[in-house]
Amino acid sequence: MGIAAELVLDARAELGEGAIWNSREQVLYWVDITGCKVHAFDPATGADRIIPVGEPVGTIVPRRSGGAMIAVKRGFASLNLDTWEVRIVADPEVHMPDNRFNDGKCDPAGRFWAGTMAMRGERKGKGSLYCLFPDLSVKRMLDGVTTSNGIAWSLDRKTMYYIDTPTLTVWAFDYDESSGSISNRRAAVSAGREMGYPDGMTVDEEGMIWVAYWEGWKVARWDPRNGRLLETVDVPAARVSSCAFGGPKLDTLYITTARGEGGPEDGKSQPHAGGIFMAKPGARGVPAFEFAG
Ligand code: CA
Repeated sequence: MGIAAELVLDARAELGEGAIWNSREQVLYWVDITGCKVHAFDPATGADRIIPVGEPVGTIVPRRSGGAMIAVKRGFASLNLDTWEVRIVADPEVHMPDNRFNDGKCDPAGRFWAGTMAMRGERKGKGSLYCLFPDLSVKRMLDGVTTSNGIAWSLDRKTMYYIDTPTLTVWAFDYDESSGSISNRRAAVSAGREMGYPDGMTVDEEGMIWVAYWEGWKVARWDPRNGRLLETVDVPAARVSSCAFGGPKLDTLYITTARGEGGPEDGKSQPHAGGIFMAKPGARGVPAFEFAG
């Protein structure tokens, strides 16, 4: 038995994702990928600001120079949170119209990493992982990815963790902060399909990783040094997609979910699927990195 998560926002998102705490504003940014919307949820007031961005949006990160960066169907983009202007800054897959961007986060040096996946047809190996540098140049870091998802860095900034969902594995890479290069891929956490499909991920102040499990009804805390399962947070929705620590003390785990296929049975068994949930699992997160450009 794990800790029970509780509903904090009955958002009914189609595909809630991309949770990240904005410490400056004390709000939770998140996205509804297929709903084509960015959200900013303020737990203090319960208000959820909604910004339509006009196309599927895989993730959002705060930007040091103001506003935010997003990864949308057409590539990496800047988002003005006041005027809602979306400006594409790099589209590395302009030749692949069936792909879209999915999850991503910034690394300790302020580079924005995000990966892609095919939306239809044979998806295996069609995606890649890209890195947007602060000068807005973009580089492909991995290819042959199927469903590019959670990404996080170790506290000592020497290891990058990465999830390509169908592999059921959290991969670790040696990471060089000065150049952004990654090498020496190996498995850090592997679990059977009964856990669900690993999706989004975050790291806590003890260096442990928290992984959201799609079709798994949970978030699980793992020790990435030895692959041991430490704890689970039970979520009353099957499609658990991402998580992030937030709140003034970074001690609240916020969890995004997606709705089912919309059938009445889905509605009965998980009426709040697509909502934002929270738990206080006794751990604390670390501040999210901003895009340095
Ligand atoms: Ca995801």
